[in-house]
Amino acid sequence: LFEEIGGMPPIEVFELNKLYADDPSPLKVSLGVGAYRTDEGKPWVLPVVKQAERQIVEDPSMNFEYLPVLGLEAFTNAAASMLLGGDSPAIKEKRFLAVQAISGTGALRIAADFLAQVVPNITRIAYISSPTWENHRLLCLKAGFNEVREYRYWDAQKRGLDLNGMLEDLRAAPERAVVIFHACAHNPTGVDPTQEQWRKIVEVVKERRLFPILDSAYQGFASGDLDADAWAVRYFAEQGMEFVCAQSFAKNFGIYNQRAGNLTLVANTANNLANLKSQLTILVRGNYSNPPAHGARIVSTVLNNPQLDAQWREHIKTMSGRLKAMRALLREKVEGLKTPGSWKHITEQIGMFCYTGLTPKQCQFLMEQHHIYLLKSGRINICGITTKNVDHVANAIHQAVTT
Ligand code: PMP
Repeated sequence: LFEEIGGMPPIEVFELNKLYADDPSPLKVSLGVGAYRTDEGKPWVLPVVKQAERQIVEDPSMNFEYLPVLGLEAFTNAAASMLLGGDSPAIKEKRFLAVQAISGTGALRIAADFLAQVVPNITRIAYISSPTWENHRLLCLKAGFNEVREYRYWDAQKRGLDLNGMLEDLRAAPERAVVIFHACAHNPTGVDPTQEQWRKIVEVVKERRLFPILDSAYQGFASGDLDADAWAVRYFAEQGMEFVCAQSFAKNFGIYNQRAGNLTLVANTANNLANLKSQLTILVRGNYSNPPAHGARIVSTVLNNPQLDAQWREHIKTMSGRLKAMRALLREKVEGLKTPGSWKHITEQIGMFCYTGLTPKQCQFLMEQHHIYLLKSGRINICGITTKNVDHVANAIHQAVTT
């Protein structure tokens, strides 16, 4: 039986990681996978995370008993509050549910499973932005959506948001279709709608009765401020929308492999929450039964302790500040070389990624000739740039564009 099964294409970012790891060149630069790096090009274990871990292991009441199916409540409540704001009416009126998940991906998958398999009258067509994080399509199809369609998002000409195209595509969507929006720091383009543009988007979502899945994987990375980065999510809530939002703590806590995530569901009334909760419980039970504890304990220890929370917010400023500084430096270097074209998008885009506008051929050239690893879409992880390698990267971009 197994002999008849064909293969699947490799996953590009993981392939890139391997190519990078296997490259013996001292010049090599990894601009592929979306993980934070210090100016030494190293992963950063946040000091506050180390401190939380110490507290956890030294706590005499700590044990390895199963968590409840929907996770650690101290974690999910703190996560929902960080997302919706401490004074959120949805929280005060107890019109929300929060479910611990296997990081952001797991939260999205619970959301997609729930919508495709449980919520009646949902049109099993999911809309994702063009382009988007490539896993959105896969997880919707695996959850049972019949079709995944793209809405326009990126205007390659002006290297910015194609708002009119986006609104037109959403207006043409069937009622009760599901739409995934990036809450902030859009991956891969680094371009978010302005508040004014979000208002127009939400109007169309209401008009067409679309169901929003918000994907919040980078809260804190766009502006350095957790509340500012949650503006769009809170606006959906303020507008009386029912929605779900997937949160990842991989990036803002730097705990990628701990798989700490949360799914928050906001409802119009508290009336049916017990039923919804029981449905989500059955979904999770039939999938992985209950979530792992360590990452959630770290996040919960920090968010529920004002001193640690303040320290963590400083770490977020450090990370987002380094991203901004590296954007400015890369732009300065590329412009300094008089590389043809406009490079202001490097600093105009936000978050971890820059959609450079380099063609697949130019990306290939960077990899083969200069040991610089990036996705063929031209997306680079700004954290991969350091004060030591920026000249090498800028020179390579210059050569890629001019040869
Ligand atoms: N959504 C987006 C847009 C992402 O970029 C990522 C991470 N690359 C995720 C969700 C999920 O990440 P994780 O499962 O590691 O939390």
